[in-house]
Order: sequence, then structure tokens, then C-alpha cells
Amino acid sequence: MTTRTLIENLKDSIGETVTIAGWVDIRRDHGKLIFIDMRDATGKVQAVALPNHIEAHEAANMLRPEWVVEIEGKVNARPEKMVKKDELNGMLEIEIVSVKVLNKSETPPIDVRGDGRDIGEEVRLKYRYLDLRRPRLQQNLRLRHKIVLFIRNFLSNNGFIEIETPLLSKSTPEGSRDFLVPSRLEQGKFYALPQSPQQYKQLLMVAGFERYFQFARCMRDEDTRGDRQPEFTQLDMELSFVDREDVMALNEQLLIELVQKTAPHKKIQQIPFPRMTYAEAMKNYGNDKPDIRTDKNDPDLLAFCWVIDFPFFEKADKGGWTFTHNPFSAAKEEHREWLMNKEHIEEILTTQYDVALNGFEIGGGSIRNHDPKALSCVFEIMGHKEEDIKANFGHMLDAFSYGAPPHGGIAWGLDRLMAILQNEPNIREVIAFAKTGEGKDLMMAAPSDVSPEQLVELGIHIVK
Ligand code: ASP
Repeated sequence: MTTRTLIENLKDSIGETVTIAGWVDIRRDHGKLIFIDMRDATGKVQAVALPNHIEAHEAANMLRPEWVVEIEGKVNARPEKMVKKDELNGMLEIEIVSVKVLNKSETPPIDVRGDGRDIGEEVRLKYRYLDLRRPRLQQNLRLRHKIVLFIRNFLSNNGFIEIETPLLSKSTPEGSRDFLVPSRLEQGKFYALPQSPQQYKQLLMVAGFERYFQFARCMRDEDTRGDRQPEFTQLDMELSFVDREDVMALNEQLLIELVQKTAPHKKIQQIPFPRMTYAEAMKNYGNDKPDIRTDKNDPDLLAFCWVIDFPFFEKADKGGWTFTHNPFSAAKEEHREWLMNKEHIEEILTTQYDVALNGFEIGGGSIRNHDPKALSCVFEIMGHKEEDIKANFGHMLDAFSYGAPPHGGIAWGLDRLMAILQNEPNIREVIAFAKTGEGKDLMMAAPSDVSPEQLVELGIHIVK
């Protein structure tokens, strides 16, 4: 392609003839003058076709919104009284010399220039590649990139390394329902997609990495409930030789700096973040992710708080006990003996800490049980039989018998944090290719049927 000038850089080319390339944002026909607003990934600019450039004028007349074109033109400064101060290229205009159509566009099924809030979400998700052209979503994903980059740098500067963990893993009774992937090579057996990298990150601590993080995709096959996605992104981290205070302090610092550097117009209500116990949160707010904002009308107020001292166990629906957060958590120091003796079960508190923001849980973690005996006790309290514990978690118990350091970590719900920072009502607005509440990808039409041959290969027979 001819040397292309990015639209955001046009101000450096006043008086020159340049070539820009992008999409026709809008065409306004004033008879003699045809205005073409051009858009590329870096911004917008107004171009004008004058009748004296006959060929260019005719070509501009043919253009329609969303066509992809290359425009050669002269960058003219606008006369003083025509300058639009608040716009990126408000001080200039392009006088079109020639137009080259790179690709035409059908009339788009949805308007891509407005904020899209008045368009039905199904059609937005079906034509997501068009929906993503709108400035609001472009901005959401660009801020997301900025934040991810900030976190990567912050953690790298603090001695963390980023490690990927597998997507094809083992099904374990760990909380939610697993997404299963049938094995072709071992028919009748299944992988599970990870609900979180919890076990792998702990095993990385056993392996001696000491400080790990990852932007991890987590898959949970849950029923439609509120603003959930079957797959979502966590900022996941784990640290060795730390206690609860260390993990909380580091994460608090990261959250504060992240807001200050990437969303400076936001105001954090209180630093250090206030803390309350689970019992206090339930008593004073009736939930464990309290909205402590002093002014709920202020869209730029961020009220972070920590909730600690959760009960380790709760009564399970089917009777017996289940964990409230994470079976791998350690009990609080003063309750470790109760855990080992399997007594006062209801009163055992965990080292779990959750961070809430404006009424949403945006992260949670704990110090872990690195003692294999204590971990076994957790599963025994929940009524797991010895052979089941071995089959499901034997690899963890084995690993912990080879010199596991004390460790702990946390995971943030990155999508939720992004939605709050962008004042978006749901996480679909900050995920590039989101699914519907029913877990459908309307653009790809997934889930979908597969061929009978594929099923045969997997040894699967569908019962209708
Ligand atoms: N793996 C946990 C979760 O997904 C977070 C953690 O404890 O680090 O909720």
C-alpha cells in the first residue's frame, strides 16, 4: 500500500498531500461539495470532494457508509471560524484528490456509529464484527488492553512471571459444573476445561516459581444466572512464602495504581481499602460484597473494600458439609486444630479474602493448605471417601508431600472490573466476542450440530 498516514497523525501533515485509508463513516452530499468522514483505528477526519477535481468528485459521489477506501488528498488547515476545537482533526480538512475503493459494503444491518444501546442485543451479537466498530466498544477493548498491559508490567516488575496452564485438564468436583471434552484416543474418557487454574498454580508453587500470574480463561457450565458468561477471564496469581496481609497489600497497591494510571478520572473512595469481616458485612449490608459508596449517583466513584474471615464450610444442599469458597484454602491459624480434629466445623474460619467494588465481588483468594494432611481433612469433612480423594486430588496430595512452600493467591474477575471502570451495565460490553445469557455464540452459531462421522470417532451416541 502507498505510504499511509494514520488519521491521528494528520495534524503533522498540514499543507502536504497524503494518503489515508479506512472506512467511510458518513457521506454528506451538498451537491457541489461532498463531505466524506473517514475513520481508521486511530480516529476520524472530514474529507471534502470539490467539483473541480471531476474524477474524485464522481468517485466520492458513489461512496457509501462502511466502504473501505483509500483517499489521496491535501491536508488543509481550516479557516479560524470553522475550527472545531474538541475534535481530533477539528483544525483541518482533507481536500480529496483521488479515491480508490478497496472494498464495498452492503448496507450494514445495524448502525455502527452510535453507542448502540437502543439496538437489540441479539442482532448486535450476531453481527459482532460490525458492532465492535462503534466507538464505545472500540474504547472498551482499547482500555482493556491498556489495563492488561499495566498489570503485566506491574507484576513483572514485582518478580512475577506469566505462565500458561492447560485448557484440557481433568474433571474434579471443585465447585461448578465442568465443560467436558470427549477424548478420541481414549473413547469414553473426557477432559474437562478448567474452572480456574487453581490446582496448576499451586503446583507451580511446589515447582518453585514463587510468583506466578496469568490472564486465564475460566470455563464453568452453569445455568443462566444474571450477568454470567460460560467463559470469562481472571487475572490469576499465586505467591509463595506469604501471608494474607502480603497478598492483600500487593493487590491493593495494584488496584490503586491501575486506576490512577489508566482511569485517572475515577476517584477511589477510601485508601487504604476498608476491611470488614463476613459477619459484619452480612449484618450491616445483608451480603458479602457490600456496596459502600457514599454517593451512588457518582459514576466515577470507586468504593473498594475487603471482606475477610469467611466461614470455611456451609451445610450442603444434600446434607453434610461443603466449602464456601475453595477447598484448597487454609483455615485461619487459630482454627487449624479444629480442622485437623474435624470439630467445630461450623465455626472454622478460612483465610479467604474477597475484594468488592461498588457492590460486586471483583476478586477473591486465600492462603492455601500446603500440608497434605490438612487438605485431606477438608475433603474428609465434606464426606469424600479415601479412594475418591486419591482419585480426584491424589496429584495434589502427592505434590504437597515433596516440599510444598506455604503459598496463597487470588484471582480477579477481569471482565467485571472492566465493566465497572467503563460504567458498562454488563460484562458482555467489555468482551470482544461475548455469548448470550443462554451461552450461545450467535455470530458463529455455536453450539452446533457436528457430523455423524465426528461422533463415531469419539464413540458418542446422542440420546434425543
Ligand atoms: N481459583 C479461585 C477462584 O477461581 C481464586 C483463588 O483462590 O485464587 O475463585
